[in-house]
Amino acid sequence: MSVLFQNYARRPIELVEGKGTIAYDQNGKKYLDFSSGIAVTSLGHANEELVQVVCEQSKKVWHTSNLFQNSKQEEVATKLIEGTHFGQALFCNSGAEANEAAIKLARKHTGKFKIITFQQSFHGRTLGTMAATGQDKVKEGFGPMLETFDIIPYNDEAALERAMGDDVAAIMLEVVQGEGGVEPITASFADKINEMSKQYGALIIVDEVQTGVGRTGTKYAFQQTALRPDIMSLAKGLGGGFPIGAMIATKELADTFGPGTHGTTFGGNYLATAVASKVCDIIFDETFLQQVQEKGAYLKEAIEKELPSLETKGQGLLFGIRQQGWEVANVLAKAEEAGLLTVAAGNNVLRLLPPLTVSKEEIDEAVHILKQIL
Ligand SMILES: *Cc1c(COP(=O)(O)O)cnc(C)c1O
Repeated sequence: MSVLFQNYARRPIELVEGKGTIAYDQNGKKYLDFSSGIAVTSLGHANEELVQVVCEQSKKVWHTSNLFQNSKQEEVATKLIEGTHFGQALFCNSGAEANEAAIKLARKHTGKFKIITFQQSFHGRTLGTMAATGQDKVKEGFGPMLETFDIIPYNDEAALERAMGDDVAAIMLEVVQGEGGVEPITASFADKINEMSKQYGALIIVDEVQTGVGRTGTKYAFQQTALRPDIMSLAKGLGGGFPIGAMIATKELADTFGPGTHGTTFGGNYLATAVASKVCDIIFDETFLQQVQEKGAYLKEAIEKELPSLETKGQGLLFGIRQQGWEVANVLAKAEEAGLLTVAAGNNVLRLLPPLTVSKEEIDEAVHILKQIL
């Protein structure tokens, strides 16, 4: 019997080695990895440049805590905010932690506590982010929730208007709902959020833990919308597989987090920030981002051509497919057996999350496998 808590429905295989989009299990079986550790290994497995950075940094310092200056954090923060309206960053270790920081910053800055979030959203598993999450299954059995979240339907302008008031500190959303079923924001809803934010002085928090750092074909997904967020959370793809999260905010919020207000022991450690810095160099390149958009469009076209009965959704390489009446767990298991790793999402959606470095040949191969099993 396993000595681990059985809180995950783990697949029966273990991936023990990989290169780029390819991964091998403990029996040497080869897979096309379109799961990327849930949108984390954005540059594929064992990326040469990242391997080198980890090796080099590990011979200097790994961790010095946030008691000391950290030029690596300055370096990554500068890359993250470059070309945006943001002003500064705070590093942590995960998506949930980045969202916790965002929620605390919004509460402290506005002096208000109510935050509007959305049904089918996912923001994490801590007591705070669990309460923010718009999925009941995440909350079952954990007792009273932090009460300050008003969870309303996504992309519903009338519902947002009804929920707004002078007591709202922030509106917090995913630009494309990831875990909830790969649901992008509509243009008119983005406009409405901006309007409501202005009218009531509420902050806008975008949870880009899954969509950020190139996944949707731009540096951040909100850049493809009219949204003008005050705060943004990042994690998943930022470290290419090394755990790191970040909370980014505009200059106006800088003074709200003074010394002693918030912190973490590990956050922004040298190994994590050294890797993140290289990830930024590779992904925040116009040509690279352009290719992510092209590959996303190529994947969509290939699916629509070869599997016309499927519904497709998403943006860039955050891609979802669905078919009436299918059981997504079965499809996922069959794809795995045929050598393609994917991730389920929300309401019977299969998520395809290849590394951003995936080739068109690998996309063809994945679509071919899906065609065979469907
Ligand atoms: C995965 C995810 C989180 C939680 O991140 P963890 O690193 O698991 O804490 C939060 N928000 C979104 C949108 C996510 O996809």
